Amino acid sequence: PSFRDDSQATDDAPLGPGPKQALTTFLAIAERDGFKTKNIDNLVGYAEIGEGDETLAILAHVDEMPAGNGWDTDPFEPTIKDGKMYARGVSDDKGPGMAAYYGLKIVKELGLKLNKKIRFIVGTDEESNWTGMKRYFEVEPAPTLGFSPDAMFPLINGEKGNITAYLHFEGQNDGDFSLVSFNGGLRENMVPESASADFTGPITLKELEAKLADFVSEQEVTGQVTEEAGVFHVTIHGKSAHGMMPQNGINGATYLALFLSQFDFQGNAKTYLDIIAETLHKDFFAEKTGLAYTDPKMGELTMNAGVFNFSKESEENTIALNFRYPQGVDTDSIKADLEKLEGPKAVSLSEHGHVPHYVPVDDPMVETLLSVYEKQTGLKGHEQIIGGGTFGRLLKRGVAYGAMFPGYVNTMHQANEFTEVEDLYRAAAIYAEAIYELIK
Ligand code: ZN
Ligand code: ZN
Repeated sequence: PSFRDDSQATDDAPLGPGPKQALTTFLAIAERDGFKTKNIDNLVGYAEIGEGDETLAILAHVDEMPAGNGWDTDPFEPTIKDGKMYARGVSDDKGPGMAAYYGLKIVKELGLKLNKKIRFIVGTDEESNWTGMKRYFEVEPAPTLGFSPDAMFPLINGEKGNITAYLHFEGQNDGDFSLVSFNGGLRENMVPESASADFTGPITLKELEAKLADFVSEQEVTGQVTEEAGVFHVTIHGKSAHGMMPQNGINGATYLALFLSQFDFQGNAKTYLDIIAETLHKDFFAEKTGLAYTDPKMGELTMNAGVFNFSKESEENTIALNFRYPQGVDTDSIKADLEKLEGPKAVSLSEHGHVPHYVPVDDPMVETLLSVYEKQTGLKGHEQIIGGGTFGRLLKRGVAYGAMFPGYVNTMHQANEFTEVEDLYRAAAIYAEAIYELIK
């Protein structure tokens, strides 16, 4: 097990014992195989070979997600059944990482002339904060070019920017109907599966139940309403999805606001509910919100209305909007456009974010990686842009390259994570040839 465990962190093992042990185990293998190695603070390390002014980096990670429940085999005892290997990490990222490592080992053992330095860099915190890789770039020179074997083939040469904006509202409201609270969403980068509101108003439970029954019969959601001491409690359920593709989910919170907006709320409650129901609802590409933008290479800006917090007693209520944006958009313009909306008293941005990352498809490295893929698989190579983030973005000329092949069943982060053993061999062959082509 090598998931981050802060409860067991020490000075010597800053992310807990698992990530450290996985890193030292990897470095011991690399040393056994004759590579020069370095361990930086038990956070990140590398195996090195070759000489040259330029450095080719391969960026993998040995941390992983916790196993969770529902496994048919021991997640930490790799088991091969019907050509598939089952264990936590076999597809994210220990399996692809070792396939790339063996690709490098093949190049080394063939004694081929290396015209660049090659560093196989292993992070231990990819699944959370990239602590290890951040440390690497603080203390080591940035490699010239490279790839991360932590996604899919043919390759990923573009990753959208990522920023969360917060719309701020006051809570005080009094009218026939009065909103006590409105809450939905667990994470900014997830579509809220459900949302709940407490409110009071001149309506009976029976009437409210009838209106809710009408609403859910017309919409793709379910809901319940209860009453306690004159306060109604309504919950709407939709469907969760990853926040980088909000159009794949059914946002329980925006549907709840749509349902509530038929009642006569006033003041801050009306402001809060109206902006959700009239503007944010189903506005996955921020057209109504006024931020729609499509880059011909990187595709459209997406917006996930991810976390909703409203309390009548609070002066600080928010809606968190997670944006994935292509080149051509910047965070200042996102903030400025949101400030034009009527309703919010203020707009702020999250401290951490990613800017868009794009390596042109005619970059010689991208051309080489695609041509090796085509030669080895007989399939057509093409560029791919995603809304998520991989280590590829750490290098100016960095991409993600493998190891999922087209048609692959993606079991990353899930119970019974597996990889086809044959795919690891195919990937290792691609990596070996790609490394050689990039350093010859
Ligand atoms: Zn990964
Ligand atoms: Zn992962």
